[in-house]
Amino acid sequence: MARADQVRRKHLGNAVHFRGLVEISNHCRCNCLYCGLRRDNEKVRRYRMKPEEILSCARLAKKLGYGTVVLQSGEDPGCSAEMLAPVIRGIKRMGLAVTLSLGEREAEEYKLWKDAGADRYLLRHETADPELYGYLRPGRRLADRLADLILLRQMGYQVGMGFMTGLPGAEDRGCRADLKLMREMRPDMVGIGPFIPHPDTPFGREQGGELSETLRMIARVRLMLPYAHMPSTTALATLHPQGRLLGLQYGADVVMPNLTPAEYREDYTIYPGKAKPYDPCNEYRSLVKLLDECGLVMGKGPGHSIFYERRRKK
Ligand code: SAH
Ligand code: SF4
Repeated sequence: MARADQVRRKHLGNAVHFRGLVEISNHCRCNCLYCGLRRDNEKVRRYRMKPEEILSCARLAKKLGYGTVVLQSGEDPGCSAEMLAPVIRGIKRMGLAVTLSLGEREAEEYKLWKDAGADRYLLRHETADPELYGYLRPGRRLADRLADLILLRQMGYQVGMGFMTGLPGAEDRGCRADLKLMREMRPDMVGIGPFIPHPDTPFGREQGGELSETLRMIARVRLMLPYAHMPSTTALATLHPQGRLLGLQYGADVVMPNLTPAEYREDYTIYPGKAKPYDPCNEYRSLVKLLDECGLVMGKGPGHSIFYERRRKK
């Protein structure tokens, strides 16, 4: 832990970037075995936010001093590229960076959003084992996800990979293959969180990921990719009351406070226990206090990836 903390402080300083999360739709055409939003889960009350609602969350992000808005959803074709492009433009006009986490979409859609000003795209690889990947994400192939990550980077996006610890079926408890894949791909961002079983999925009775293993993985990625931006994930905070703090102490340098309106939040149930009806202003205050306690400060500006800044200068 101490070494990961030192490496983060040396390469990224003591700034923690705030990325305000807006969960814009919980419709999903995929059927991932691990996720509560999977297509076959009929218990989910589905919603899709309207452009003006998303923009008003972004205005709140601006007001609170966050540098980035993350738009996340299930893989929802109903959230059309044409509808989102002007929303992205609107957020960019507020002077904020935009990260997208909308699943696998068409190349033209990625392009339209990039042209509208989107900066980053999160597409966790989930597991580096192609066979397990095909089992966990029926009808999907790891090779396609990796090809999308390469395409997104070519288009100029900063890209994020990552995985869950303790996934059922993952024999490789040390996640060696995941680390190797990320060492090769050198993503700008890495998201690692524990798998949390959702009762209305085929994995409802499985064991979840462990705190210690998740922290160990975050620390190992920090040592391997000193400049990568890494969130101390909400899943980690859900698993343990000190999870968010521990993540930061083990090398994470990003937090993702939730800005989703209260009326939708409880329906964005990727995993259970996450839908705390937090007031965004309270969450902001408690995060700033947490940082203060461990000698960290809220980052200023968009908090772009250093790899990306270098690529841009070339
Ligand atoms: N639909 C998009 C983005 C939303 S899901 C996508 O899948 O890329 C965001 C992430 O939530 C996924 O990448 C997955 O790693 C994580 N996730 C899904 N189910 C989970 C669970 N039960 N516990 C913890 N994390 C989960
Ligand atoms: Fe859909 Fe993402 Fe959940 Fe898979 S992980 S079911 S793509 S929301």
